[in-house]
Amino acid sequence: MCSRFVSVVLALTVPLTVSAQEAMVKQILGSPEFKVAAAFIEKDQPRFVKELIELTQIPAPPFKEQRRAKAYLEMLRQSGLSDVEMDQEGNVMGVRKGTGGGGLVAIVAHLDTVFPEGTDVTVKRAGTRLSAPGVGDNTRGAALMLAVIRAMEAARFRTVTDILFVGNVGEEGEGDLRGVKFLMQTGKYKGRITQFIAIDDDQPNAITHGGVGSKRYRVTFKGPGGHSYSDFGVVSPAFAMGNAIARFSRLEVPERPKTTFSVGLVSGGTSVNSIPFEVQMVVDMRSVDCAELKKVNDQFLAIVREAVDQENTGRSTRQGRITADPRMIGDRPCGETPLTSPIVQMTAAAIKAFGLTPAFGISSTDANAPMSLGIPAVTIGRGAGERSHSLDEWTVVEPKADVQSIQLAMTIIVAVAGVK
Ligand SMILES: [Zn+2]
Repeated sequence: MCSRFVSVVLALTVPLTVSAQEAMVKQILGSPEFKVAAAFIEKDQPRFVKELIELTQIPAPPFKEQRRAKAYLEMLRQSGLSDVEMDQEGNVMGVRKGTGGGGLVAIVAHLDTVFPEGTDVTVKRAGTRLSAPGVGDNTRGAALMLAVIRAMEAARFRTVTDILFVGNVGEEGEGDLRGVKFLMQTGKYKGRITQFIAIDDDQPNAITHGGVGSKRYRVTFKGPGGHSYSDFGVVSPAFAMGNAIARFSRLEVPERPKTTFSVGLVSGGTSVNSIPFEVQMVVDMRSVDCAELKKVNDQFLAIVREAVDQENTGRSTRQGRITADPRMIGDRPCGETPLTSPIVQMTAAAIKAFGLTPAFGISSTDANAPMSLGIPAVTIGRGAGERSHSLDEWTVVEPKADVQSIQLAMTIIVAVAGVK
């Protein structure tokens, strides 16, 4: 997942009248199945740690998750799910049948990491601390999901809805949510998923209920190029791009809903004594609000067009004209699950039943995709960790805390799927 904003104000002002949800959670926690599951989770914790290490040490760079996905597919099969398969996008999944009716709940944990091929992913252990790139985000989420499935199987929990457990590809960066987009928009479960939970946060009490949308472009400016001295006066893609960047930098965007823009990378040119024939920039725009995101996106594209026009009218086009080609390289849909929706309330009720205070937040996760389609979705915690997306990323495998995070995730999942 990406950086997360906690909506503190909302958390304090929204009344949590969760009686139906609280009753469901109470019923689950008081059931004989929960007792069996809780005892199983304690005994199973070493296996959770073993699988977390095993999975972390299988590299899963963006667009190269296949090896890890194959290993995970086998683990899903061993955990007792039916219809275990890999889809055309590379997601691996399996179904746990419910008693019937009530739709299909998808639980997803992304398998990909941000780290490129060749990164050393050996897990270093110091006491209860495991350090390795990707060990927290989101390998811990993937391992936690396996532990939850095993516990549900051991306790023979009978949920109302079917549950689809997915280890998905393509959450991070230029993966652009490709795995979950395929799942929701193209794959065989398209149109059947009625509720959605992503496991992908390092706060155990997290409820991400809003998705920050983003639009990303690579814009290539081209021109005739030439000699810096003898062709002076000829149009330059560098000047056009510089003008576009300067104007873009002065755009006014609202602080709330938080809306941002950035030029992350500029490149191109030939030599110090040349007018370049090509330069490029890579741009990122985000907002928690879909309308604001569209607005900044449209303004940006207009600025690029105007900067090109200004260059073509302000300097000589005798050797050719400046063109700009903005290519979209990222499109994360935005959306929101209302705080009052049953899935948010159920998750909050479970978190509170474990003695924690729900931390409502807005972020950019796999849940963006279902939210943008109006499907109720949240992202929940996977257990403690820090330094996501850095080489010194770490997580803690402390039996008591692990057991709590597995039990809590299981309770949320069972409650959302419903029991009779
Ligand atoms: Zn993540």
